[in-house]
Amino acid sequence: MPELSDYQEEINQLLKSRYPSRPEFHQAVKSVSSSVLKHICETSDDIDRSVRVLKYLIEPDRIVNFRVAWQDDDNCKQFNRGFRVQHNNSLGPYKGGLRFGSDVNVSVLQFLGFEQTFKNALTGLPMGGAKGGADFDPRERSEGEIERFCRAFMGQLARYIGTDQDIPAGDIGVGAQEIAYMFDEHKNLTGEFSGVLTGKDPVFGGSCFREEATGYGCVYFAEEALEAQGDKLAGKRCLISGAGNVSLHAAEKLLDCDAQVISLSSRAGFLHFEEGLDKEQLESIKQHRKSRGSLESLAEKEGWEFSAEQKPWSLEADLAFPCATQNELELADAEQLVEQGCNFVFEGANMPCTEDAISHFQENGVVFGPSKAVNAGGVAVSGIEISQNRSGQYLSSEEVEEELKRIMQKIHSACCKHGKRENEDIIDYKLGSSIAAFEELSNAASLYGVN
Ligand code: GLU
Repeated sequence: MPELSDYQEEINQLLKSRYPSRPEFHQAVKSVSSSVLKHICETSDDIDRSVRVLKYLIEPDRIVNFRVAWQDDDNCKQFNRGFRVQHNNSLGPYKGGLRFGSDVNVSVLQFLGFEQTFKNALTGLPMGGAKGGADFDPRERSEGEIERFCRAFMGQLARYIGTDQDIPAGDIGVGAQEIAYMFDEHKNLTGEFSGVLTGKDPVFGGSCFREEATGYGCVYFAEEALEAQGDKLAGKRCLISGAGNVSLHAAEKLLDCDAQVISLSSRAGFLHFEEGLDKEQLESIKQHRKSRGSLESLAEKEGWEFSAEQKPWSLEADLAFPCATQNELELADAEQLVEQGCNFVFEGANMPCTEDAISHFQENGVVFGPSKAVNAGGVAVSGIEISQNRSGQYLSSEEVEEELKRIMQKIHSACCKHGKRENEDIIDYKLGSSIAAFEELSNAASLYGVN
């Protein structure tokens, strides 16, 4: 009779033989399968069948890659690599963001497509999982170059997407402006004004509250998790990394909840607000980032404390929200956070904590909220945007926020259902979120005859 470790080994071998050089994908799959296999071995009446379903969910439906040729400001042709990983459409059309950055590669996008499949399943909305993007770094480019790149990228991507097929959105390096360029290009190419992208400006069919959704959703999840421990956000010292859409909206909502925001960061270092960031300061950071300005230049102008080339995790805090990028928070950072008394970690970015950092948190009684649950608010409001585009009926900001709150509470309850271990006070959200998503996906897979 095979044991848990045998099944784990089988998955590891599968990853090694099929995807030998995709470390981020291995990391994401191993993290989910360690939770799911444990659950299967404890509860399934047909373990082999459940393991086959897990293998089915690991294999992406397809990965397309294409050349993106565009003209730079010197009238030279530049070439980048574009990708779309359509991971799984068991629950609905493929859905997930587009990421532009020099570190974008197929391993990163494959892990993100896999994670997105599980995250989208948790929202309870009919969306499959996908991710895409290009190794194009907008930070080094002029506005004209960014526009030309976005249009060239859509020129290639358009044939693979559609309102019933695959509906991309933004992610790192792709905000409302890039979505607008791509949407316009899609309109030019097809002659159709359709809901083929989400994260659109409300002026051309976007949903109210999409911009706020991911960051606010993280804070709603945190509120639920603190409440489950008999605690609350007011007065808590919170560290945030990143200074993009997720970070700044998480900061905004934390201030609304009377929590203190002690840091924000970029690849260049972190801003330190020992007494807590105030609303006015947050507003000027938002404006500065909108015009693509750097944190250092703003810190210099405003006389704020900026620690170059450092991460904020050595500061004293109650809560940490890593909202920048994958694997930004490593074991040494986790050790510092635990030492400084941090009790809660909520992942705003996708997989920002390394596996050994997560183990360190869990071994030390830190409540850990994984990204697929914590940051699902963004794609949830994308799902609401799709429904609005289909029906032609638009919701107010308040209505979308209400719906988002309801979805985040539902995700929290689903995590508790599967993550509450007997005789333990702390909920294992990593375990709970993977199992809850797996159950949804597994039910659909069974109906499709994956046996
Ligand atoms: N990029 C976001 C995420 O990681 C949103 C995806 C979407 O709205 O489709 O979930």
